[in-house]
Amino acid sequence: MAATHAELETHVTDTFFTATVLGSPRIGPHRELKRAVESYWAGRIDADALAAVGRELRTQTWAELVDAGMDSVPVNTFSYYDQMLDTAAMVGALPDRVAGLADPIDRYFAAARGNAEIAPLEMTKWFDTNYHYLVPEIAPGTAFALDASKVLGELREAREQGVPARPVVIGPVTFLLLSKPVDGSGELLERLDDLLPVYEDLLAQLAGAGAEWVQIDEPALVADRTEAELARTREVYERLAALSSRPKLFVASYFGSLGDALPVIASTPVDAIGIDLVAGTDDLASVPALAGKHVVAGVVDGRNVWRTDLDAALSALESARAAAGSLAVSTSCSLLHVPYSLEPETGLDDALRSWLAFGSEKIGEVAALATALTGDRSAVNAQFDASRAGRTSRESDPRLHDDALRDRLASTLAEGISRADAAERRTAQNELLGLPDLPTTTIGSYPQTTEIRVARAALRRGEIDDAEYVRRMQGEIADVIALQEKIGLDVLVHGEPERNDMVQYFAEQLDGFFATENGWVQSYGSRCVRPPILFGDVVRPEPMTVSWFEYAQSLTAKPVKGMLTGPVTILAWSFVRDDQPLADSANQVALAIRDETVDLERAGARIIQVDEPALRELLPLRKADQPAYLDWSVGSFRLATSGVENTTQVHTHLCYSEFGEVIDAIAGLDADVTSIEAARSKMEVLGDLDAVGFDLGVGPGVYDIHSPRVPSVDEMTEALAAALDAVPASRLWVNPDCGLKTRGIVEVEASLRNMVEAARAVRGST
Ligand code: GLN
Ligand code: ZN
Repeated sequence: MAATHAELETHVTDTFFTATVLGSPRIGPHRELKRAVESYWAGRIDADALAAVGRELRTQTWAELVDAGMDSVPVNTFSYYDQMLDTAAMVGALPDRVAGLADPIDRYFAAARGNAEIAPLEMTKWFDTNYHYLVPEIAPGTAFALDASKVLGELREAREQGVPARPVVIGPVTFLLLSKPVDGSGELLERLDDLLPVYEDLLAQLAGAGAEWVQIDEPALVADRTEAELARTREVYERLAALSSRPKLFVASYFGSLGDALPVIASTPVDAIGIDLVAGTDDLASVPALAGKHVVAGVVDGRNVWRTDLDAALSALESARAAAGSLAVSTSCSLLHVPYSLEPETGLDDALRSWLAFGSEKIGEVAALATALTGDRSAVNAQFDASRAGRTSRESDPRLHDDALRDRLASTLAEGISRADAAERRTAQNELLGLPDLPTTTIGSYPQTTEIRVARAALRRGEIDDAEYVRRMQGEIADVIALQEKIGLDVLVHGEPERNDMVQYFAEQLDGFFATENGWVQSYGSRCVRPPILFGDVVRPEPMTVSWFEYAQSLTAKPVKGMLTGPVTILAWSFVRDDQPLADSANQVALAIRDETVDLERAGARIIQVDEPALRELLPLRKADQPAYLDWSVGSFRLATSGVENTTQVHTHLCYSEFGEVIDAIAGLDADVTSIEAARSKMEVLGDLDAVGFDLGVGPGVYDIHSPRVPSVDEMTEALAAALDAVPASRLWVNPDCGLKTRGIVEVEASLRNMVEAARAVRGST
């Protein structure tokens, strides 16, 4: 233990803390917050009941940290939806369109989710994690003004409970860099002069409310920043540190190295600097530059689920302390990104359990390291022994090294991962498929009906057997095939009723993955995901999708697409092993997918789609690291898709992002047909593809599936006409932006009918 309860009394007034985490999960150990906010939205509970759930969860979270021995506890990392949205609300930057709503909580949720009249804020990925934040909109008329009620409220609440509370806020530089200029706003950092008074006011109020420390998060500093941006950053922290009444300033960074930003922050009079020593190991060498600062050393990985090598972490901490002077042990980032606790995972075998640490276990690791660092090593011998034992067990576990698999992977790679020339493939495929120009298709999933959910739950509870489950899913497939034939689509899909999730479905069938029971993490708002854990070598014991495909294809003469998830996306949405390069794990997954494509082809699939919606997501934050990533990620896709004959048409699907930085990589995938999100960006992506010489098939989404609105024939005809400016009819496909699983069947049928009609109209006129 880093500090007992009694010691904490004194630590509250101590100058420097020794053990902390950068932030806590907030959805609740059993997703209590998800249920509460969704009940509130549905009108089943009122605002007071919602507030009570939040209070209870905060109390539990803080108590756990205090009991474990943290002598500084982050507060205000709780949120009903998102910390960037909280910051926008705090600085008076919610969009004007929600201003008419009387109640602050209605304004907040309207900005997050929209309503019949109000469009929500855009959502995008939080750095290279799987968390999504709401992008604040800053207009020239945005008048920043402080509303510190949330952070002050949580600070007061924590202090009343005797918690050594450290309020956490997003810093002004990161806030502006991650916001979106609207209505003609220019460079948003230009608005710092307007925004800083709000932060100055905030710091004064926090000091007045008894905060000894404040944590100001500036993760934007771990990405490439210009000289000008760094100069502005220096001004910001010089100015904030110059305030006469303020808490001690702790500037936190995470998700990578500060690099050039480190000396910049260090040159300002802030009191503490947080560095990520898991993702940003380079910063360790820069620690001498931090002499005189309190260094908050993130040695416990806040983003992955592996047990910390306590010996290695302790020696990193010791060398950092020797250089820095004063040091606290911490997590590399907020624990928002890992599940709460290993405890509910009854399905873990002892070995696997001994390799892992979720949120609670990581808090214990921070405490053990802090204790070891401050002297009493013997008190934490047991933790260090367990860490060593876990490591030894992991290194020697046969599931981590399957020689036969590794040999086969090496020889497949040696044979090469290129398909024949694209033109040659096109000729062979056209002959086999005989499709019209502008073929119509969908991305894969159809609405996940109540019947599907009921059947899945019944199977899980053992109320129905496998055969009955298969029978029900086949019923769904038959309906979806019949619907597509009725609508007149050219290339059909089976609708994916059997897939709970496009990654978990495969992870559950591959050796080397563990699917947790309760390992939920927040993805955005009330949406949580349960990423599988990739812990070992990946082996496909048997085909994963073939029987569903065969059934679907047996019902129709039209081609049904085999439907798979690509290796990059499988990795992006899993916790990945950290004992080998990601590229190696990607190739192992790719080999399993490759085997599946070959089996699908043998079962009669003429078209196989391998989705890579997450290709852009894993792109490293620093430019210098990007080429290597793009190289292996594209390579793994090609490994996955180059095992089939020329006559087999490979499709891929990309969405959820802007593709500017990965356009070359998309071309490099060499998929015969790429369906890509485009409806909201007005087909711009086609020009970008053209600019890199892309000359394969492309299906820019002709309508946005994120809304229940039924698009008209005219607007899709226009979208296709715009697409035809950039792509010849012989290469153009017609499809929605993404899968249809979140939509209702009525709007899906209407939208697809209009889409098919639009395609026919355009075909007739070309
Ligand atoms: N085939 C998947 C679907 O249609 C693709 C999902 C996605 O792009 N995220 O649901
Ligand atoms: Zn998609």
